[in-house]
Amino acid sequence: MKQIAIIGAGPAGLMAADQLAGHGHRVTVYDRMPSPARKLLIAGRGGLNLTHGEPLDRFLDRYGPARPRLEAAISAFPPDALRAWCEGLGQETFVGSSGRVFPRAFKASPLLRAWLSRLAALGVVLRTRQAWHGWDDRGRLRLGEETVAADATVLALGGASWPRLGSDGGWAPILAARGIAVTPLLPANCGFLSPWSPVFADRAQGQPLKRIALSFAGRTVRGEAMITATGIEGGAIYALSSVLRDAIVASGEAIAHVDLRPDHDVADLAGRLGRLRGGQSLSSHLRKALNLDPAAIGLMREGLGATLPAAARDLAALVKAVPLRLTGIAPIGRAISTAGGIAFDEVDDRFMLKRLPGVFVAGEMLDWEAPTGGYLLQACFATAVAAAAGVDHHLRG
Ligand SMILES: Cc1cc2nc3c(=O)[nH]c(=O)nc-3n(C[C@H](O)[C@H](O)[C@H](O)COP(=O)(O)OP(=O)(O)OC[C@H]3O[C@@H](n4cnc5c(N)ncnc54)[C@H](O)[C@@H]3O)c2cc1C
Repeated sequence: MKQIAIIGAGPAGLMAADQLAGHGHRVTVYDRMPSPARKLLIAGRGGLNLTHGEPLDRFLDRYGPARPRLEAAISAFPPDALRAWCEGLGQETFVGSSGRVFPRAFKASPLLRAWLSRLAALGVVLRTRQAWHGWDDRGRLRLGEETVAADATVLALGGASWPRLGSDGGWAPILAARGIAVTPLLPANCGFLSPWSPVFADRAQGQPLKRIALSFAGRTVRGEAMITATGIEGGAIYALSSVLRDAIVASGEAIAHVDLRPDHDVADLAGRLGRLRGGQSLSSHLRKALNLDPAAIGLMREGLGATLPAAARDLAALVKAVPLRLTGIAPIGRAISTAGGIAFDEVDDRFMLKRLPGVFVAGEMLDWEAPTGGYLLQACFATAVAAAAGVDHHLRG
């Protein structure tokens, strides 16, 4: 029987193991951490968004320039197949109001528990605390202190965000030394740095900006954001993070605009602000007339870098478009996901590395990015299914 080594026990590695063991192969999964799928468990903390219920064509557009590279894999293992797979593990799924798909249990732990039991029943061996360091000069895998021979290998080592969960991008120089092109790993779905005044940073950090709209480069998204000590993060920011990041990399800064009251137009807001202010401070007036909280009002002051305008119409216009100056990208360690990775030109259409026959790759370590909404996990699972089919094909020769 052929021996398959899978390195990385995240969603991509475990899915490759599931598929291959299901086809009767002997599979060992190695991971450097003491337990598997730590990022999947953290991803499930606020609800495990597995995939999205929108039509497949729109779904595929979320991968931007990587769409042509992922289309075959995701079409072969689309969101409905992922939902059916979950249900096969006894984990029913549901579509939330935003179209996002979650397990009924909401968290990742019941799904992971059921999955690990099935893998054990299929004979998959899981070896934890085994860090992969590359290959020795005979082509054997260097794992911890051992070397291991494998008939086929799947690398599913993840990106470089949240390194304490196990994935730190340490594989990139190992593959680059083998002549494999790796697009630099950058934060995706990440926060940004903003040169807040010390007073605002102190008072507003940890405060949410709820039901805002954020605009940049002709795109507008609705959502929430959170002020941090050094900048801003949260759903609306993540949704535009790829264009914001690319602008900052190109020119050192990006000026986005925040609409603090997207459901009202300037005239409506000006009308409310024009009503009698009496002896109230401008902040109290804004708070009472427009229901703006201190963080939002502070953001307006930061955006202007000067005192707020007194005229109702100017103030209303500012509420609708607060300039937000971003001058840096928050560190990749805090990003939800990673952009960059193994260039698609390095893999064949079965996800095998052209320069290393018998070595397949899957998941976030490939060069694609996508917004949050279930697109990350779907691509990890689908590329793993495709890589597993590639291994099966390779071994059957
Ligand atoms: C806070 C947070 C919330 C998220 N929420 C969602 C969500 O709701 N929906 C969604 O679609 N996505 C979400 N994601 C993203 C999603 O979790 C990742 O895209 C996904 O886990 C990537 O899967 P992977 O298998 O490619 O890599 P990983 O999950 O990173 O797994 C890689 C594994 O490889 C191991 N490894 C790495 N290097 C080595 C080495 N040298 N030797 C041995 N083992 C190694 C690691 O220990 C790890 O276990 C979230 C991410 C974060 C951080």
